[in-house]
Amino acid sequence: MQSYIGPDGILEKRKQFFYPCTSHFYRNPPQLVKGSMQYLYGHDGKRYTDFFAGVSVVASGHCNPEIAERTAEQLRTLQHTCTIYLTQPNVDLAERLAKVLPGGLSRTFFVNSGSEANEGALLLARLHTGRRGFLALEQGLHGRTYLTMSVTGLKMWRTDPELAQDSDVTFIPRPYEPGMSADEAGHRSIAALKSVLAAKGDTIAAMIVEPIQGNAGIVTPPDWYFAEVKRLLKQYGVLLIADEIQTGFGRTGRMFAMDRYQVTPDILTMAKALGSGIPIAGFATTDELAASFNRPSASTFGGNPVSCITALAVLDYIEAHHLPERAERLGSLLRAGLEQLAARFPASVSEVRGEGLMLGAELRANDPDAAARLTDDVLEGMLQHGFIIGKNGVDRNVLAFQPPLVITEEDVHGMLEALEAVLGELA
Ligand code: PMP
Repeated sequence: MQSYIGPDGILEKRKQFFYPCTSHFYRNPPQLVKGSMQYLYGHDGKRYTDFFAGVSVVASGHCNPEIAERTAEQLRTLQHTCTIYLTQPNVDLAERLAKVLPGGLSRTFFVNSGSEANEGALLLARLHTGRRGFLALEQGLHGRTYLTMSVTGLKMWRTDPELAQDSDVTFIPRPYEPGMSADEAGHRSIAALKSVLAAKGDTIAAMIVEPIQGNAGIVTPPDWYFAEVKRLLKQYGVLLIADEIQTGFGRTGRMFAMDRYQVTPDILTMAKALGSGIPIAGFATTDELAASFNRPSASTFGGNPVSCITALAVLDYIEAHHLPERAERLGSLLRAGLEQLAARFPASVSEVRGEGLMLGAELRANDPDAAARLTDDVLEGMLQHGFIIGKNGVDRNVLAFQPPLVITEEDVHGMLEALEAVLGELA
């Protein structure tokens, strides 16, 4: 049997060799050593059912053999070249994406992470429009690079405090507010957008949005919202960038969340689930916009054969196993169960939100700190029961359920039973 340094050994090394910005979930976190589809295994052999998928990444399952086999085969055959040489996996992947992306988005630039994809999308918007300004929704999260951090509204992820002075970015209230109906909050957001556009629409290159805000606590705008946003932006020649980094590739019950809203963005960014654990990301757009991105640009690792073959295998798997439909069906089951728990524990669970297998349950307590502590206690209790669930939200008080889309009904029932027990113990 392999020997492991164990959680304490890992924490010790992190303390010594990582930056202090690195944090972890759980008071007594396990050392994870193996993954298999919806399961993760600790160094002590304990099995956990994963309901967070490494934050929405391994949608096709951990170490999915149908995908991993093709990754390994490519790794043994041709591991790396970049776009200055001709290889087939990246062009095949771009062609394949053109078939599944919302209509007209036929060109993709490949990079390695979500931040880079959004950075590229923002650059493309500036190059195409010749304008510098950006709009973003309050509490959104778009990345760690300077530009993507500047359009990130969530305070927790605005790591550089000086960003507040960046005048190129204007934040619009998000179409969500506790105590307001979805329509009211949507109209408030649209009214703010209208007045910003009227004041300086001709200086704005693009508006970047998450179709469903992930880190901000799984916040879903009303059905009509993005169509109205798109209509207004178009009047002022402002582009719409959909950050589908968490929502893309089936998670919300559609291939892309924007499909739910029947809106085609001008630029769509993707990452996470596209490689189901192998780093790959991209930004896609139309022929017309892509024509403006004509000065030399290249990413060393972007479009490498191993990542692209993996992404092709992921797309094959999503299609063959109907993962968007599965997310819709199991998401309804999970949502119904969470709503029952919210009715059973009204003092602890205030709201259930989301679409497909991107669901959140907001917790409440006497004050925000107590609600965040309760959230941590629930995560801890669920770990004891063998379930890994996530957390997010502006006040870190939202339980997040974003499992691999390969989970089964049995997993959903088992998780709900454990959650009922944990909420009962903590009530
Ligand atoms: N956009 C969204 C919506 C995200 O959730 C994240 C990461 N959580 C990013 C962008 C940044 O992606 P990455 O960490 O791959 O740079």
